[in-house]
Amino acid sequence: MAADDEVAGADAGTLDLRLQPAPDVTVAADSSWGDARPQDVQAVLSSVATVMLRNFPGRRLQPIVVAHSDLYPITLFRHSPNDEYRVFLTAKDRYWARYVYEFAHELSHILSNYDQRKDAATGSQSQWFEEALCEIASLYALKELAAEWEHSPPYPNWAPYAQALESYAENMLKEAHRALPPSMSLAAWFRNAETQLQANPYMRKYNEVAANALLPLFEQTPAIWRAVGYLNISSSGRSFKDYLSAWRNNVPEEYKAPIAQITALFGLSSDESAAPLSEVPTSAAPAEVAND
Ligand SMILES: [Zn+2]
Repeated sequence: MAADDEVAGADAGTLDLRLQPAPDVTVAADSSWGDARPQDVQAVLSSVATVMLRNFPGRRLQPIVVAHSDLYPITLFRHSPNDEYRVFLTAKDRYWARYVYEFAHELSHILSNYDQRKDAATGSQSQWFEEALCEIASLYALKELAAEWEHSPPYPNWAPYAQALESYAENMLKEAHRALPPSMSLAAWFRNAETQLQANPYMRKYNEVAANALLPLFEQTPAIWRAVGYLNISSSGRSFKDYLSAWRNNVPEEYKAPIAQITALFGLSSDESAAPLSEVPTSAAPAEVAND
């Protein structure tokens, strides 16, 4: 079977006639979106789903229903009675970039098989990495949609919003807390932060450091997205190194190389486990706790 025909991830083998190449996204048709019309919110979210699913050829998802929440963005473990994914976003009014940012994050949880974590401790110590991947997806989707909306926006008069999406991503990428400290490798940063990352997957400022460091790899290597479709589908040991090993074991041969690259960037390749003393960091950055 050609790679492009494979059904990646946990839904392999599912036969459901509702499953389409781009997921069916339905937005709550109520006034909770402020001055944004539900059909416009739906157009934005469908745009995000289309651009993200291009990287998962053959992947089919259950339909997704999206509603507004004032609390925090979240994708529930429990599906709707109709077996739909249930996603909540805090985005409101016509801040389209915020919708893109939040929905790409939640869609990335779905694509990385977050629901395989619900019954077991599978990878829970390494959930921070899934959160970092979701942040990468948000930045990626903003930049991809910015390029796409310039020539084919959801509505002809929306082309000017392309620049707003681009600026939203660029402003986040420039945030000081996202940069690795000067002269510090991602591997050295990870050794410093590992205990905190394992204890709390929602330290956004930590996850965003990893996201900024890994985004170029995801922009340059489309196969890495396909590999994300195999995350969390088997249990692994407690360490992040074990989690990466389990992920690498689960993917088809052609997706193993980018996972090896990630493993090396974190300094966790077998032949790189002994770090030079000069790389050991001496201080930790402050953390911000968020919930999504
Ligand atoms: Zn998340």
